[in-house]
Amino acid sequence: RVKIATKGAAAMFDVAMEREALERMRIEQSLRQAILDRRFCCAFQPKVDIRTREIKGIEALVRLRDDDGVIQAPGTFVDLAVELGLIDELTHLVLAEIMKSIDLINDAFGTHASISINVAAKQAGNSHFMQSFAAALAATECPSRFIIEVTEDAFVTKSHFQSEILPMLREIGVGISIDDFGIGYSSLSALADITADEIKIDRSFITDIHKRPRSQGILRAIESLSEALGMTVIAEGIETFEELAYLQTMTRIRYAQGYYFAKPVFLEELKPSAQGFEGGRPRESGRQIDQA
Ligand code: C2E
Ligand code: MG
Ligand code: MG
Ligand code: MG
Repeated sequence: RVKIATKGAAAMFDVAMEREALERMRIEQSLRQAILDRRFCCAFQPKVDIRTREIKGIEALVRLRDDDGVIQAPGTFVDLAVELGLIDELTHLVLAEIMKSIDLINDAFGTHASISINVAAKQAGNSHFMQSFAAALAATECPSRFIIEVTEDAFVTKSHFQSEILPMLREIGVGISIDDFGIGYSSLSALADITADEIKIDRSFITDIHKRPRSQGILRAIESLSEALGMTVIAEGIETFEELAYLQTMTRIRYAQGYYFAKPVFLEELKPSAQGFEGGRPRESGRQIDQA
């Protein structure tokens, strides 16, 4: 009886593995084809001043359009793209897409808004890619508007990132942001060596922050550290009024991103011009959005 059960389980396991392998092959094929066909687009999510609701910047979040028209979020393909060596081309395509739409971006979010692009930690340590990407950024009319977002892993792995790549980016005026801070492998002391302009606190610390004393403590530590190091702090993934209220009353954190303010949007979804982002009122210093 035991034998049969084991066999059955093994067979089920095989079927599951086979299905997984097939699904992976399907995604891999579709990813290669999507790059050939340029079937990518970007959604943009604002970084918002939590007090004034002004848009400080936007983050480009890549999407893949399947051949059947279904839009895939990066969770399904970015790691695979890194594995297959397709991510560098993808990142260049993201920049190309942004530059193609720069007038629309300016209309929707304001010319002052910074533009963030995500770069995988592995890419960040690759001098060859980073040099070509820096050259592409430098060739735009506005290199100093760009911010590169990398996870903290990029800063701790022994790579040329800290010593060569960061100074090169700084030279052309590109900003550096530490993405998903708090869930990677860097220790707080490693932070002291990092020269970044911005630090984004991972959503896992922000969720229900008003109810979680431990997260509150961590938040306070990150906040004072960032202040000491002169980095702008952004809270990721604010979804509720309670989370916002906590940040606003109990911390000095000024900027946030999250569904509460705005979900990532495609430019074509936005109302054209003058109105600003999602009907928000344009202000002298920038666009503003109304709360959700
Ligand atoms: P990320 O850079 O940390 O981006 C934030 C992710 O959280 C985005 O998911 C965004 O849609 C989501 N998000 C924002 N606010 C909220 C919120 O209030 N609640 C919840 N539940 N989620 C929120 P998305 O677009 O699926 O992107 C996932 C990750 O894929 C990104 O995480 C980034 O690491 C990566 N990625 C996106 N675009 C690119 C790219 O062009 N290149 C590379 N290498 N990675 C990218
Ligand atoms: Mg990011
Ligand atoms: Mg993040
Ligand atoms: Mg994240």
